[in-house]
Amino acid sequence: MANPDKSSAAIAYVYRGTFVHSTQQTALQVQEDALLGVDTEGKIAFIGEGKKLEALSQVFQFSPSEVTQLTEHEFLMPGLVDTHIHACQYSYAGTALDLPLLQWLNTYTFPVESRFKDLEFARRVYTHVVKRTLTNGTTTACYFASIHTDATLLLGQIANDFGQRALVGKVCMDRNDSVKHYRESIQESHDETCRFIKEFLDKKYPLAKPVVTPRFALSCSRELLEQLGKIAKNNNLHIQSHISENKEEIQLVKELFPESESYTDVYHKYNLLTDKTVMAHGCHLSDKELAVFKETGASLSHCPNSNFSLCSGVLNVRNVLKHKVKLGLGTDVAGGYSSSMLDAVRRTLDASKILTIQDPKHETLSFEEVFRLATLGGSQALSLDDQTGNFEVGKDFDALRVNVAAPGGPIDLIHSEGPKTLLEKFLNLGDDRNIVEVFVAGKKVVPFTEPKAE
Ligand SMILES: [Zn+2]
Repeated sequence: MANPDKSSAAIAYVYRGTFVHSTQQTALQVQEDALLGVDTEGKIAFIGEGKKLEALSQVFQFSPSEVTQLTEHEFLMPGLVDTHIHACQYSYAGTALDLPLLQWLNTYTFPVESRFKDLEFARRVYTHVVKRTLTNGTTTACYFASIHTDATLLLGQIANDFGQRALVGKVCMDRNDSVKHYRESIQESHDETCRFIKEFLDKKYPLAKPVVTPRFALSCSRELLEQLGKIAKNNNLHIQSHISENKEEIQLVKELFPESESYTDVYHKYNLLTDKTVMAHGCHLSDKELAVFKETGASLSHCPNSNFSLCSGVLNVRNVLKHKVKLGLGTDVAGGYSSSMLDAVRRTLDASKILTIQDPKHETLSFEEVFRLATLGGSQALSLDDQTGNFEVGKDFDALRVNVAAPGGPIDLIHSEGPKTLLEKFLNLGDDRNIVEVFVAGKKVVPFTEPKAE
């Protein structure tokens, strides 16, 4: 496993103990008494067996006495990837879950999002959301912000300052009949998106990128969708939006875009489905639409807490995987009430079990498969799997140090358990008290060191 040719940078630190991660072939791979070295550029320099410590220390030139030994209830796992979260809805997370999607947007969401033109309010909420998600082990987040360019730029800056890997989108919407002050003209949306992208890219953040973000088909005119497809293409950018979340929405899309064969076809027509696109939900997509996702390389973000909370639908993940469509998990705060990806893991298992209750022939997802979706699957859905998602030499070290028996934590270990059981217990019962350290690109980002005051 060791490959000294891959990295020329010096070794910054080495961990020894149990590591768990996923590969394309294996949903859960466990390595016990293993060594993992991270170089000064934050990349995984080597992974090897503990008994080869002497040899590895000579090849990679580190001192065996400086190796950090994990305890018997600890393991390292890849960081969690939240493929869909609305940073500006975090202020009302845990409330307002009593209406279906379209009424929920008009009643709760749009009035709150319109407040983000106030930069101080934005700073307060965005600092909380970045800190909270990092504490919860989200090393990569794909954020929706609001329509406000400067506040969205601020979200990018805050994610960068705290060291989170982030895709950040200024929301585009030129249609909103219910909250008329919360929308843009086509021209504004176009110009502000271009300004957002330029100013964001000018910052040259190492881990944060802008993402083109039409809210969803119902909020955008054809002209705007077309322009956004062009902007994404010309700048080779990520794209995010929503699709096929609830049935009322799908019916309205059909009425508003009668020329399109399906909801998927609306986005496809305006070049918004690419191998850098992630679409949230997709609860009600047909097999034919999934085939278009496969063909274009676009991915889905499964957000089960939101799908339950707004009574939107139950995505059949097994069917999506059968169509070989890339899929990650998302919290979809605040339609989903929890900002923790551990909750997304649990709700994904629940959703799969509901499908099995309805049809005993349905093959329920295993916890190992859902673990993969929350880590490697998410990185694939965001087209970042060349950099993150699992422990491969050459990738960035995005990781959680988990202590299942953390003092004062939520888990009581009665027996001595193997690593697979420890992981299962953490996924089902754990919380941030079990997440002792969080690393993004080799840098320890939790516990926090507060960013310098400006
Ligand atoms: Zn959403």
